[in-house]
Amino acid sequence: MPGYYVWTIGCQMNKAESERLSACFAELGYQPVETPETADLIVLNSCVVRQSAESRVTNKIVSLRTVKKQYPGKILAVTGCLVDSDIPLLKKRYPHVDYFFKAGDNPPWLANVMSGNSLPVRPAPVTYVPIMQGCNNFCSYCIVPFRRGRERSRTVSDITCEITELVRRGTREVILVGQNVDSYGHDLPDQPQLADLLTKLNEIDGLFRLRFLTNHPKDMSPRLIEAIAGLEKVCKQINLPVQAGNDEILKLMRRGYTVAQYRRLIAQIRVKIPDIVLSTDIIVGFPTETQAQFQDTVDLLSEIKFATVHVAAYSTRPGTIAARELKDDVPQEIKDERLRTVEKLQEQIGTEINARLLGTTVEVLVEGRSKGKWYGRTRTDKLVFFPDKNERLAQLVNISITKTGPWSLQGKIETKAPQGG
Ligand code: SF4
Repeated sequence: MPGYYVWTIGCQMNKAESERLSACFAELGYQPVETPETADLIVLNSCVVRQSAESRVTNKIVSLRTVKKQYPGKILAVTGCLVDSDIPLLKKRYPHVDYFFKAGDNPPWLANVMSGNSLPVRPAPVTYVPIMQGCNNFCSYCIVPFRRGRERSRTVSDITCEITELVRRGTREVILVGQNVDSYGHDLPDQPQLADLLTKLNEIDGLFRLRFLTNHPKDMSPRLIEAIAGLEKVCKQINLPVQAGNDEILKLMRRGYTVAQYRRLIAQIRVKIPDIVLSTDIIVGFPTETQAQFQDTVDLLSEIKFATVHVAAYSTRPGTIAARELKDDVPQEIKDERLRTVEKLQEQIGTEINARLLGTTVEVLVEGRSKGKWYGRTRTDKLVFFPDKNERLAQLVNISITKTGPWSLQGKIETKAPQGG
């Protein structure tokens, strides 16, 4: 089922408007999801009544640039007070946003749906499946434990039944999601681990690929690493948020590991799975972060060379431990500068990593069409575009890579895959 994510700040009017939009999306068969990464529709309901609110809105819009680069099939829309200003200017400033629409209006794509045109959602071959809710960690910047409560896992049999049915209806790739998938199952009577769940799901006929997120560096087990290495449907890809490359900041974030422990974990993973593709999440401008501490993060990123880095500037989230105990004392200009530094560095690293794929042949699961080309992902989560006049949706195709860039690859089709969906 496609998912929607509505982010709201501001007054009761905005909250009511977001509820109205959410009801519309639910009516159309979308389900609410926890993160923009797992949503097909992302709507930001903005407020600009104070400078701090406007800064949070612009930060949020900018932080979604990477998500849109990685998942061009997602729809990103902005509504609320910000859109009362000059829309052409907003479009120019934020070209990655698909739609700006005024508060009270219907989202533009909804008009198409209501008049019987097709639903602009990410198609069926890839489906997100929640395996647990809640989180038992209390990272100081995070609201999830307060909003979603303690961890509650779904049973292996329940998840297996759902995915078997999804595959019967055309799903070819499943992304298992939870706030901390490494602690999956500890609350169930027989305490299955994520490795057990993956082993079971690996047996489902017709399912091509399995991915999962998000991992927690302090909880990732050697058994899970073995399972990723050994199960053929599990993609060799791990999202392992480090958040910062400095121990004092990690302590203030209450992450529960040191940079040295994180480095050791990465080394263990790379020994067991040499072709692993790693991604991470970073927060810059956390309270008290000095330039030298930020430089530690930059150094770590340069050393590990992640394939993808999701970076966000810190902003206070009311209700969190950090909001109560720490002063948001890094000026916005410094946060923006650090954000740009990480983005620039990652652009170079992504360019280098992707350049190695030039001239190789990769297997792509086709997810949709954008700007006249088909696009899909490799098993290592690389986004690939290729032209072809034939129907390719949900097929596995071999693509020979003819051009590479920091965020995506271009190529041409080589062979038809026999398993096409
Ligand atoms: S950041 Fe992740 S691990 Fe930490 S409390 Fe939030 S959901 Fe849990």
